[in-house]
Amino acid sequence: MTQRKDELARNLRRVRHRIDRACEAAGRSPLEVTLVAVTKTYPARDLRLLAELGVRDVGENREQEATPKAASCDGLPLRWHFIGQLQTNKARTVVQYADAIHSVDRVRLVDALSRAVVNSHRADRPLSCLVQVALDTEQSGGRRGGAAPDEVEEIAAAIAAAPGLRIDGVMTVAPQVGPYQDHPHAAFERVAEIGQRLRAVHPAATTLSAGMTGDLEAAVAAGATHVRLGGALLGKRA
Ligand SMILES: *Cc1c(COP(=O)(O)O)cnc(C)c1O
Repeated sequence: MTQRKDELARNLRRVRHRIDRACEAAGRSPLEVTLVAVTKTYPARDLRLLAELGVRDVGENREQEATPKAASCDGLPLRWHFIGQLQTNKARTVVQYADAIHSVDRVRLVDALSRAVVNSHRADRPLSCLVQVALDTEQSGGRRGGAAPDEVEEIAAAIAAAPGLRIDGVMTVAPQVGPYQDHPHAAFERVAEIGQRLRAVHPAATTLSAGMTGDLEAAVAAGATHVRLGGALLGKRA
């Protein structure tokens, strides 16, 4: 094993252990929680090593970085999750490799993604979409993408009606400002509730993407089905 592969293997064991313990505390099965390795800023060779170590889900947040990386990882058994703010004019590129978009936050983006899927080689394989909920829009400032809670229903309905797209649930990032700052658990509970309300209309929308390196335990406690881990797995980003 290379030194880097050793390091990644060790981090992966630690992270899985954290997920296992969080699940145990919450009375949940670890099989309910998918680990998405957030590989932004890290090179394609790290993705190759992660794939060798059994990681199957990777997350990227910038189209300019993700597109060439996905191309150079072609053939690896990886599912690509796009987790960052996405411009409508980048939809066509991203749907070439993305299996899921966690950051759908406006109807205009829904339309662009739908058109892109329908006009692509993947037209028969629906694109999994999550509505990104931003609780910090309830306070001014600090918005990093995401829809306000009262916009979620309309965006989800647009996804459900859009050819080529599938509404799978909701995603959130714990707010760094506003009333939920330093209260990730309350934030995740709130978004879990929003997801639950969504399921009354879209029963298959069972995904809750929440939790990063600093707050994965709180997210698992609130019912996260996908945790997005960068630093804990790959090391601190420069
Ligand atoms: C970078 C990023 C993560 C991973 O964050 P870490 O703190 O490194 O685990 C998760 N979600 C999103 C949307 C990100 O941009």
